[in-house]
Amino acid sequence: MARYTGPVCRLCRRERTKLFLKGERCYSMKCPVSEAASDRHSRAYPPGEHGRDRMRQGSEYLSQLREKQKARRIYGLLEKQFRNLYAEANRQPGITGENLLRLLELRLDNVAFRAVWGASRSQARQLVRHGHVQVNGRRVTIPSYRVRVGDVVGLVPASRQSFTVRRNLDTVDRQLPPWLEANADRTQVTVANLPKREHIDEPVREQLIVELYSK
Ligand code: SF4
Repeated sequence: MARYTGPVCRLCRRERTKLFLKGERCYSMKCPVSEAASDRHSRAYPPGEHGRDRMRQGSEYLSQLREKQKARRIYGLLEKQFRNLYAEANRQPGITGENLLRLLELRLDNVAFRAVWGASRSQARQLVRHGHVQVNGRRVTIPSYRVRVGDVVGLVPASRQSFTVRRNLDTVDRQLPPWLEANADRTQVTVANLPKREHIDEPVREQLIVELYSK
């Protein structure tokens, strides 16, 4: 499935917030939207020739659109994939916005990210695409694969000592969410529960997305 391949810091600048799309760089002074960014790197305004002119307050529609774009970019989905997921969330019982976030969290690339095998979702996605991840003992290379409660997601044996994975596990300061349980060396996680809204720490106001798509 297709994915966005352009410059990613531009996406954070457009949303005027850190979306943490680049792993290590996002925590450094090189992040252009960080308050602590050095003068040379600081570009905390929207991209483009007229980026600085776009700092004004927007309409209700604009804030709904930006919220949807932010969520889509955080999870690395294109518009069509995101819209299809929304349609599915809307068909499910319960609160549509929460259903949407839950479906996003249950993607295999997100689980690999939450398990801290990848420093960013794009790196986690690459681990899946390149065959480093297995579900219930079978290799799965589809980033959008949806895990279920009880699934055991792990790294294939040959990748458990991978330098990149070990470095991420040792250096990335991110906690495992309560709906996942890891084994001793953290190369395997079990989906213990479905993620609840309070377990999803992404800065997304899902109600605005629902309002946008309900128009
Ligand atoms: Fe976003 Fe990370 Fe780039 Fe900062 S460094 S703008 S958080 S992708």
